[in-house]
Amino acid sequence: MTFEALGLHSSILKALTEAGYTKPTPVQEQAVPAALQGRDLMVSSQTGSGKTAAFMLPALHKFAEAELEAQPGAKTSNQERQSARSRGERPRFQPAQPKMLVLTPTRELALQVTNATDKYGSNLRRVRAVSILGGMPYPKQMQLLSKNPEILVATPGRLIDHMESGKINFSQLEILVLDEADRMLDMGFIEDIEKIVEATPETRQTMLFSATLDGVVGNMAKRITRDPLVIQIASAGNKHENIQQRVHFVDDLSHKNRLLDHLLRDATLDQAVVFTATKRDADTIADRLNIAGFAAAALHGDMHQGARNRTLDALRRGQVRVLVATDVAARGIDVPGITHVVNYDLPKFPEDYVHRIGRTGRAGRNGLAISLVNHAENINIKRIERFTKQLIPVDIIEGFEPKKTASAPRSARKPGGWKPGDNRSNSKPGQRTFSKPGAPRKEGSGGFNKGSRFGDSGGNRRSFGDH
Ligand code: ADP
Ligand code: MG
Repeated sequence: MTFEALGLHSSILKALTEAGYTKPTPVQEQAVPAALQGRDLMVSSQTGSGKTAAFMLPALHKFAEAELEAQPGAKTSNQERQSARSRGERPRFQPAQPKMLVLTPTRELALQVTNATDKYGSNLRRVRAVSILGGMPYPKQMQLLSKNPEILVATPGRLIDHMESGKINFSQLEILVLDEADRMLDMGFIEDIEKIVEATPETRQTMLFSATLDGVVGNMAKRITRDPLVIQIASAGNKHENIQQRVHFVDDLSHKNRLLDHLLRDATLDQAVVFTATKRDADTIADRLNIAGFAAAALHGDMHQGARNRTLDALRRGQVRVLVATDVAARGIDVPGITHVVNYDLPKFPEDYVHRIGRTGRAGRNGLAISLVNHAENINIKRIERFTKQLIPVDIIEGFEPKKTASAPRSARKPGGWKPGDNRSNSKPGQRTFSKPGAPRKEGSGGFNKGSRFGDSGGNRRSFGDH
């Protein structure tokens, strides 16, 4: 399958060649033809599978066609604005009337979508995409909106502000995209999203992308789409087969920090993201790594937008080698140079583990995801394994052996070997299978509920990730 065969406009094909894309990814192969026909979509597929192009290429194609069909001499609303200005009339305030709106959970993701759009649309002169984001200076936002861009990429909160003050009007909207819809709901944006959808014409095309289409997100998706094509890309990809995962047990903080330094000196490491539980830890660890000679930087939600953008730019340019980040700040970061992800602290939710490790192994490259875990956190690793239906091998590095090896049930699991009697041990290393739902489990746990917080189901609850 080729991009030509999908029926895309030649100027888009040219941009894709320039971007080095040779063929569509599976999600693009399925989504693009349907979207070109104007169908609504509900799509679930893993991070890094190329969802941005899946919705943006058909949209750009539509705008490219409209550009060709436009009557020569017919004035666009933008040209009318211009000529009013050149006649010396004080430009009357006119709200922006975008044709396409992409909603994303975070500012970083919005910027990434805008950048990708600029790339895919680099040969379409008249199509402009802008991001409207919290933290951006107000005059700058007004300046962007006054250009009446065709494509608006925004986080829900800030968009609502502009809608309510009459700066944006969605009466001309043709395409609505919800990117990472599940994350937006997790972040509490459901009411904002409903309000925004309400303000758009019913005739719009709606495309929704999410890691899952179950539960709340599935219900919302059904409400806001019409006769959608449901695309669920097989879960082989969800297993992150190109990403190697490892657990290292640590005795205490000093052991953890020494091991982190060692791991970051790995010769195969190009760039790394280190995840911490708190914003303060992100700052502290970034400072410490800088002193130790790593080009490190922190990224978290307390930083000003400008500082966050500068950090991400520096990461993309390779000036930052180690990004120390919290979950929300790092969501959706797509930097191909990231070869390593280190969980300095484990995430609160197993879903976040999957999002974290997805920062590496972008576009099919190989990646390594390492979790630094104290013995008490073994239960949380088990929950992650149950969620991902994959076992994470334990690794021990010479000179960094954990002292404590006896108490944790898992500690007998040396790399490449399983404790006899472990119900997962009957398969050979490398062929280990995860026990099927319903199979007897030693832990006797009530199973893992999606979205539930980690907690020891054995009653011995511990606070998690706050050290
Ligand atoms: P997702 O939104 O599914 O996480 P992205 O749209 O961010 O994925 O794409 C992930 C990476 O893959 C990006 O670096 C993007 O440039 C690249 N990519 C997307 N489609 C293709 C393709 N057809 N060929 C090669 N690389 C691609
Ligand atoms: Mg994406």
